[in-house]
Amino acid sequence: MTNVTFAIPEPSLTFFPETISPSMMGDIFQCEMYFFRRHCQRYTIKAENPHLLAGRFFAKACEIVRTSYYFDKKSEDESIALGNEYLENCPETGSDTKNITKLIFCLEAYFKKFPLKDVLMPSKLVDGGFAIEYDFIFDLGIPHPDFPEINIKFKGRLDAIYDRHYLGQKIKSFIVDEKTTERITRIKGTNLPDIVKEAEKYKLSNQFIAYSWAADQIGKKVDGVLIRRIPILAQHEDAYELEFKITQFQKDMWSMAMYNKIWELRDKYLNWKNDPSIPSQAFFTPEYDTGCSYFNRTCEYAVGCIEKEGEDILKSTFPQLIWNHELKQEMELQEYLDYMNEKGTIK
Ligand code: SF4
Repeated sequence: MTNVTFAIPEPSLTFFPETISPSMMGDIFQCEMYFFRRHCQRYTIKAENPHLLAGRFFAKACEIVRTSYYFDKKSEDESIALGNEYLENCPETGSDTKNITKLIFCLEAYFKKFPLKDVLMPSKLVDGGFAIEYDFIFDLGIPHPDFPEINIKFKGRLDAIYDRHYLGQKIKSFIVDEKTTERITRIKGTNLPDIVKEAEKYKLSNQFIAYSWAADQIGKKVDGVLIRRIPILAQHEDAYELEFKITQFQKDMWSMAMYNKIWELRDKYLNWKNDPSIPSQAFFTPEYDTGCSYFNRTCEYAVGCIEKEGEDILKSTFPQLIWNHELKQEMELQEYLDYMNEKGTIK
């Protein structure tokens, strides 16, 4: 290391995540420093990226439609109406294209194109339930660095596993995911989506390998992933499907990388806690590349990687908030740590 003097900021409060989700793994693979800022220092970003916000609202509306139809046994029309009602009550996204009116229009068009009573039906689980909105949690056997008496868990939700039927027989099972988009890769010289090229982009995505691995863990073997792309453009275009396979080798390598990475970050976290006056960048490697401008935006924590006083600036800019799963409420990190210390343990 070169001989540089650092302004030593007051060490910020931190709490290593108790559970790691597939999207958190995405942050970890993208940039360790980002993971530390967001998931250990808990610097909470209040202003959300309009595209991510629109994607989240749309996914939630799809979830409402599916659960109303399959679990609550409402009609298809009633279920879609409930999805629309949810969207109507969402705040504006801040995007001109992916605005709420457009999302409502696209939700209706999506379920017209892919009706709920389709050749694709939700997979049945061993307990007789449907594999939709399925919450999973697995103990990783890695001791938590702040509370070593508990283990870190891997937690997430599978939106949907559907079976494809032919002549009354199940022929394939898929992880199904909806993705809104403002950009379509077209087959050269045509207006048609290039589904081969688009599928290639997702084939190595952390999200789908993680989901496929999680499906294995709950004993649900899937044959592939089916992404339904929902264009949200000035002029309407129908949703379309991308289909691809996640190999066993991918899942094996991903789970090895996931375990190694979490162990490594846990150790780095403990080393940093031993002497928090050393800049966190000495432990959590910043990835000065795509992560810094992911989704066409500058990383919210960039000042921490640019300015010598960045650590203090971040501390005075972002609230440190954490979700308390037991009390089901967001709280200040200090309040949460007091709560945990009083309890002496984490369930
Ligand atoms: S600015 Fe770049 S290197 Fe720094 S935390 Fe963000 S993504 Fe990582």
